[in-house]
Amino acid sequence: MADIASRLKAVQEGIERLAELAAPDQADAASRLVQKLKGELDDAIAEASGGPQEPSTSANLPRNPRHVEIRCPICSLRSFTYQKGTMRRSDETESGFEALYHCLSCGHEAWHEA
Ligand SMILES: [Zn+2]
Repeated sequence: MADIASRLKAVQEGIERLAELAAPDQADAASRLVQKLKGELDDAIAEASGGPQEPSTSANLPRNPRHVEIRCPICSLRSFTYQKGTMRRSDETESGFEALYHCLSCGHEAWHEA
């Protein structure tokens, strides 16, 4: 799909060049047309290159927490371990994310800022 995006970009550059070449008495109409075409091209380029607009909300989640192992609040050993795939959004943490942690020593489980 990447070569489609680069071809569309070439068309986009051509449109910009065309706008520069437009006769002065047609300049307004030409620039309106250029703006319209550029908008359509931007959409097409975004779609062709995979686009930044992934509809899935989980796509924006960080893959790993900042700390995979932290100190357990119960037994205070550094074995409170991040459970893979439990990352979720949270309004109550500073980072905006939390994940489920499981203590390998005492078995304590809790959600913690990730
Ligand atoms: Zn523990």
